[in-house]
Amino acid sequence: MTADKVSEGGAGYPADTLGLEAGEMRRLGYQVVDMVVDRLAGKAGEAAILTGRADQLRQALGGPLPEQPSNAQESLALLAEIALPHQQQGDHPRYFARVPGPSSFAAVLGEWLGTGFNSMAASWAGGSGPATIELVVIEWLRQLMGMPEGTEGVLVSGGSIANLTAFAAARASHGTGVVYLSDQAHSSLPRALKELGFPPEHIRILASDEQLKIPLDALLTAIAGDRQAGHKPFMVIGTAGTTNAGTVDPLPELADICVRENLWFHIDGAYGAPAALTASGRDYLRGMERADSLVLDPHKWLFQPYDAGCLLIRKGALEHCFNMNPEYLKDVEAGAGEVDFRNRGLELTRRSRALKLWMSLRTYGVARFREAIAAGIALAEYAEDYLRQQPDKWEVVTPAQIGVVCFALRRGSGEDHKRRARDLAESGFACVSSTSLKDRTVLRLCTINPLTTRDDIRETIDRLNNT
Ligand SMILES: *Cc1c(COP(=O)(O)O)cnc(C)c1O
Repeated sequence: MTADKVSEGGAGYPADTLGLEAGEMRRLGYQVVDMVVDRLAGKAGEAAILTGRADQLRQALGGPLPEQPSNAQESLALLAEIALPHQQQGDHPRYFARVPGPSSFAAVLGEWLGTGFNSMAASWAGGSGPATIELVVIEWLRQLMGMPEGTEGVLVSGGSIANLTAFAAARASHGTGVVYLSDQAHSSLPRALKELGFPPEHIRILASDEQLKIPLDALLTAIAGDRQAGHKPFMVIGTAGTTNAGTVDPLPELADICVRENLWFHIDGAYGAPAALTASGRDYLRGMERADSLVLDPHKWLFQPYDAGCLLIRKGALEHCFNMNPEYLKDVEAGAGEVDFRNRGLELTRRSRALKLWMSLRTYGVARFREAIAAGIALAEYAEDYLRQQPDKWEVVTPAQIGVVCFALRRGSGEDHKRRARDLAESGFACVSSTSLKDRTVLRLCTINPLTTRDDIRETIDRLNNT
């Protein structure tokens, strides 16, 4: 069980495959740690987003194919000073656009260690340690989401691939047919269905109701109509926290419909599912635990660096769909209690995305995650209150819902809102996005970074008013 040190056969090999000296490796490695911690400590004073000009970035970072070696330290400096500042700083306390990525350092450590050890999570025989970490993390996430015991899962690159993986597995278990979702579902969902070969007439996108939720009566009508027309209804997709407004579909009612109509119930919680770690979020997301498959994105609201998406799904569905045991993999087939993750999705060679989750959940403790998520929920509520205190200037278009609030100027056109968001981003102070709700362009804050202060919220809203 324990890996005995192999003393023989270890001496005399250089540490680096391609020839960096061990001392140099340490020096550069420590330097990377310093660069990262310096950036994290100083990031609030840097721009929340920076977009470069293509010609200038190309000039600074391009050049001829480097046939000969060059100084690693200079290259690191180019990355840290030019390449990496030119992006959305998703962990900046005033980055409120789209969905922030408030990554945490203990998770970064797990990621680094895994990369350094070239972690491998494709098969039990090829990586029983990393596979076990992934099984443990999936079980922890299952418990946090309140899904039934025996639910299985897999970690993938993000919500888009997690949803696609779920659709393929659901279809393999349940047979194909018509899929129902609302116009507030994430745009990657219809794309995934299309790429899986669902014809357009099997992708039924229902117009959301006034509250931006899937309308139950229209859903029932569509299901009945499809049956009458000889189509087979197959799956209903609910969203637990829309990217646009943090809205949640009526999950308990959707679950009941799916049971009654024998449909697969999928929930996309890529953004909102982690809200279930808090008391108010759990209440808000009631019914989520009844999904046959659920997606969440740890690289959004579970404080992980990119990338990490997670699919939780009924036992057996993944292997039933993705099992692949050709002759050249026969000697790396898993036995009882062992899992070959290559048989749970489309990736064969895959790194361990579980190490960072394992490391951060243990280091901070789940209680800290709950607190940090609750802080994000409270910040959006604070923003809503602050907007409502100025009714002559601002209108709250959708209330604070699990960390998202949408609002508009009393007298502002769509163009005006877009311009203000753009000007603020260009100033570097903060980044907010505009979005479109029922053809109306509004401003939107997503406040899931626990480093954000109330001052940050007020100052950002004031600047949007004054630009
Ligand atoms: C972000 C998001 C996705 C896509 O996830 P990626 O990690 O960007 O691939 C899907 N659904 C919802 C609700 C999201 O917020």
